[in-house]
Amino acid sequence: MNNENSRAMYERALTLMPGGVNSPVRSFSAVDMDPVFIQHGKGATITDVDGNSYLDYVLSWGPMILGHADPDVIRALEKALQNGTSFGAPTELENMLASMIVDNVSSVERIRMVNSGTEAVMTALRLARAFTGRSKILKFSGNYHGHSDGLLVQAGSGIMTQGIPGSPGVPESVVENTITAPYNDENAVRKLFSEQGHEIAAVIAEPVAGNMGVVPMTMEFAQTLREVTEEYESLLILDEVMTGFRVAFEGAQYLYNVKPDLTCYSKIIGGGLPVGAFGGRFDVMKLMAPKGPVYQAGTLSGNPLAMTAGYHTLHKLLNNGHIYQQLDRQTMKMERGLRTLIQEYDVKATINRVGSMLSIFFTDQPVTDYESASKSDTDMYGQFFREMLERGIYLPPSQFESWFLSVCHDDQVIDQTLEAARDSFEAIFK
Ligand SMILES: *Cc1c(COP(=O)(O)O)cnc(C)c1O
Repeated sequence: MNNENSRAMYERALTLMPGGVNSPVRSFSAVDMDPVFIQHGKGATITDVDGNSYLDYVLSWGPMILGHADPDVIRALEKALQNGTSFGAPTELENMLASMIVDNVSSVERIRMVNSGTEAVMTALRLARAFTGRSKILKFSGNYHGHSDGLLVQAGSGIMTQGIPGSPGVPESVVENTITAPYNDENAVRKLFSEQGHEIAAVIAEPVAGNMGVVPMTMEFAQTLREVTEEYESLLILDEVMTGFRVAFEGAQYLYNVKPDLTCYSKIIGGGLPVGAFGGRFDVMKLMAPKGPVYQAGTLSGNPLAMTAGYHTLHKLLNNGHIYQQLDRQTMKMERGLRTLIQEYDVKATINRVGSMLSIFFTDQPVTDYESASKSDTDMYGQFFREMLERGIYLPPSQFESWFLSVCHDDQVIDQTLEAARDSFEAIFK
């Protein structure tokens, strides 16, 4: 594989940005190689600056559910571009994306647009604390909710990958109100609530964790979170930044039949542009400025281009009812193919999947929480990643991330990927 241009660009980038990247997992450090620089993408395929093409299972870490450069989204963006890119004044485009969400997700009565998932979660917590008059937040180990100070505690993915326990620069005083518990552990949650439930403003959770690899909540755990938060009048915040409009149009809360008080979004709702949002109960949301006293603002929030990409992405998802079945079917095909290989080559590996989110963990134990996820053989994942990349398959460059499929991942794409997986297994495990 020729990677001369990528190498030169990375060397230049290293002199410009810390670690040469603008987000840590892009550096490929967890898979022990240098990153490839991407030139363009179309459908399920991305092409790097040396002309190598890859079938893409990162999809910008989830947003590109329609595949890269979807013609409808691009056309809408081109048109929006002609009208000017930002006004700092309301546009109808904000109504369009907001109503797409409010009209279709029953727990979301009001919504506010921001610019990233980090910002959405950070503000949702401020709001929950204001609403309840309490300070403590309960989160789960291995769940990632963006990089705001108070949430950089046992936060999965990037941190897990880089082996950083939380982060320096976060004062004790900021995280002393963040309580953590093991994911999928109902007893731990009940115990914490019985001891300090009246001080807990909110429980925040990824309903299908995707930032320690894919680890779904059990139905019982989801139910428990709803029950205890109701009993103690804390808020339940579901972080659907990854799962929203991904595992179902109405998100994981639909699959689990749990109605959260607040939901956080990003990724798919931006259709590849920077958008975040949080929304939920009217009586809670009405505390937000300018209606209420909880301050939050954003110069580029609700930006016309971002609203356009998000709206047209959701519009297409909503009006093609079969899309989620198709995504599920294709990803199941991938799962089955990988399982067959795992058996055939007698590899110690476990697969977790929810809809079009999938992870292969190199451990023979079930992966249900942070602890079991961390038992995975990350060196083996790195080896698998490199073999796959060599064969034109672009997997997430970390054991602790989800693979994503798009509507462009058709039979041929899956077959080609499984063929590459077979050759990679042959190279590693034979
Ligand atoms: C990606 C992600 C975030 C952070 O979103 P950014 O837009 O990267 O700030 C938060 N929560 C979850 C569950 C995520 O997957």
